[in-house]
Amino acid sequence: MPTALLGLNTEELRALVQEEGEPAYRGNQLAEWVYRRGARTFEEMTNLPDTLCVQLKKKYEVGRSQVVTVQHSRDGTAKLLLAMCDGARVETVGLPYADRFSCCLSTQVGCPVGCVFCATGLSGYSRNLTAGEIVGQALAVQEEAQNYSSQIDKRSCRIDHVTFMGMGEPLLNYAATMKAIQLLNRELDIAMRHLTLSTVGFVPGIRRLAQEQLQITLAVSLHAPTDNLRRRLIPKMVKWSVAEITDACHEYVQQTGRRVTFEYCLLGGVNDRIAEARELTSLLHGLNCHVNLIPYNSIRGLGFHDSSPKGIRAFREVLSSAGIQVTQRVQRGPDIDAACGQLQQRITGAVFNELSLQSITQR
Ligand code: SF4
Repeated sequence: MPTALLGLNTEELRALVQEEGEPAYRGNQLAEWVYRRGARTFEEMTNLPDTLCVQLKKKYEVGRSQVVTVQHSRDGTAKLLLAMCDGARVETVGLPYADRFSCCLSTQVGCPVGCVFCATGLSGYSRNLTAGEIVGQALAVQEEAQNYSSQIDKRSCRIDHVTFMGMGEPLLNYAATMKAIQLLNRELDIAMRHLTLSTVGFVPGIRRLAQEQLQITLAVSLHAPTDNLRRRLIPKMVKWSVAEITDACHEYVQQTGRRVTFEYCLLGGVNDRIAEARELTSLLHGLNCHVNLIPYNSIRGLGFHDSSPKGIRAFREVLSSAGIQVTQRVQRGPDIDAACGQLQQRITGAVFNELSLQSITQR
């Protein structure tokens, strides 16, 4: 199996070409083709000597995924189903806004966490994605936007914000996620502060991430203010209490100076009452944080329903009157089933994939 170039940084590519007896600057040219000029084959790399391309082809491949299907929403959201080199399929989403172009990346094929309100969790887990496969999703979204846009729009097709909120738990694929962050920052020139990593609350991962002292945003999908309720919603994460999760978040704030975001999916009659809002307020007291409320979009067969607008307002009011900064996500891509928790790709009658409930929404 050839090694993928996508996933190697410029320094590694420089070392690679030197091993082939070529000057190091050829590695910079390779990085340019792989990350900035969208090459999928060595034949496209016209400023590299043919002899080097022939040599590289024996051991390496570019490593780009194939686009299986694309759906475009009226609001500009694009949902891509991608096939990895081994056939594994993941979805990724491009979200154009007036002031930025964001994309939501998956870090695993499926998800081992199994939140009971998320269809990705129900579909099981296959494997981790490599750093190259994670970054490749951003390149695919960017290319799709360029193909879809007019000449005038093309300038705004460069991705400048990334969220790790697609399929999977990024902190359970730690090394590849960290490498992807490094590549997005250095090779695709996306500012660290424009990268958001979303975790369901894997405490050892949060503590490890804190030590990295990166300037990325940490988003913690809490969804419940008490251990009992969280156990019901995220049964595979019972090992860490909500107090341990917030302790780890305190450490993150201390180490990085960055505010933490808590994602809270409002499930009608389950976690959206005033009592839960008050418990959440006490839990987060004294923590430099912000709460992002996610109105739930019901997924057939999962047994949950959304909260009433009045209930959401009341929940929000409890938090803000306690001095907690709170926002509410706006759904994107509803006409392509890209709404929160509803990303579903059906091909020849089979459900292939679904992004997590956080994926297609905006603050
Ligand atoms: S919500 Fe996120 S962590 Fe939970 S099962 Fe879905 S993808 Fe996994």
